[in-house]
Amino acid sequence: MNKKITVLKGDGIGPEIVNEALKVLDKIAEKYGHTFEKDYVDIGGASIDKFGVPITAEGLERCKNCDSVLLGAVGGPKWDVIDPALRPEKALLKVRSELGLFANLRPTKMFGQLKSASPLKETGIADGLDLMMVRELTGGIYFGEHKTFEENGQTVATDLMLYSESEIERIGRVAFETARKRGKKVHSVDKANVLDSSKLWRKVMHRLAEEYSDVEYSDILVDNTAMQLIKNPSQFDVIVTENMFGDILSDEASMLTGSIGMMPSASLSSGRLGMYEPIHGSAPDIAGQNIANPLGTILSAAMMLRYSFDMPKEADAIEAAVDAVLSDGYRTGDIAGSDEGIKKVSCSEMGDLVCSKL
Ligand code: NAD
Repeated sequence: MNKKITVLKGDGIGPEIVNEALKVLDKIAEKYGHTFEKDYVDIGGASIDKFGVPITAEGLERCKNCDSVLLGAVGGPKWDVIDPALRPEKALLKVRSELGLFANLRPTKMFGQLKSASPLKETGIADGLDLMMVRELTGGIYFGEHKTFEENGQTVATDLMLYSESEIERIGRVAFETARKRGKKVHSVDKANVLDSSKLWRKVMHRLAEEYSDVEYSDILVDNTAMQLIKNPSQFDVIVTENMFGDILSDEASMLTGSIGMMPSASLSSGRLGMYEPIHGSAPDIAGQNIANPLGTILSAAMMLRYSFDMPKEADAIEAAVDAVLSDGYRTGDIAGSDEGIKKVSCSEMGDLVCSKL
């Protein structure tokens, strides 16, 4: 197969980690007879420095005209002081909305070899953890009207949480379809005891639950979800929720494993086009030193093969290669811990090791 990937390396460790993911994709192409054509587009601070904007209109067009987008990370202290409208993160919001990326998928998996990195390691509660957070990404309170005004002699501010049935239904379908390919269980998170938008959310999810009767379905309130993620996270398979709840809960879930550098993500549109990126930022504190962990980006590339290119065999091969490298004791500094027999490697050595396992 021939696929075109728009590559957004971004800032900080972005270029280093993306280079390792591209190495792995090249190895897959060679082994399975595919061609991955790459189109490199500047984003974030790198684009601000060259063009004065976090992404150009032409760059955005090139993101639309490809089979999928691979992103490193954007941002850094150099650009923290500029006009908020031109900040590096604005480019991400633009790409998400222009490409219609409404579904954010974040798997949280406990690699047995990295158990010592989990803050819950003593309890064993997160052992074998393997859950998928499906977050609605283009609606809800982040996209509703924001207003600050004067009333009765004081300043008042409001943010509108708005969802339509169709927005809820399309994210619900992503969750149920995802569950069908995993543990066949969906927990839908809301605050239906208080919010009208949650009552509608629940009504639509119940309709879908009847349609997907092969999937076990439960409602759960957002506050209880926050507790259950710490108390008994293994009860979850797929969690689906609206934008802000998902933002908060997905960060909580990712911390269960304790290794931010390992976590991939996918943002999907209603077609095959998606954007794939690690969940962490540009880590300016370690940029340019070849010590960053590239595995979150490499696993994001695996998600790209699975969700955008329909190449499950190739995706499985990358995930198995990562697992094998960890089993051999190789670690970048962030996940090295103090276990015996660990071999500390650089960012590029980690990429080479994954390729060698392929
Ligand atoms: P961060 O995720 O960049 O870093 C947090 C900590 O984790 C740092 O100590 C960093 O060294 C470490 N870390 C992160 N990724 C790592 C990896 N792959 N290997 C080893 N260690 C890793 O978060 P931050 O420090 O809050 O933000 C830094 C910059 O990144 C900010 O400008 C922020 O706006 C931006 N950011 C970008 C994105 C994105 O592009 N999607 C997401 C979050 C933050």
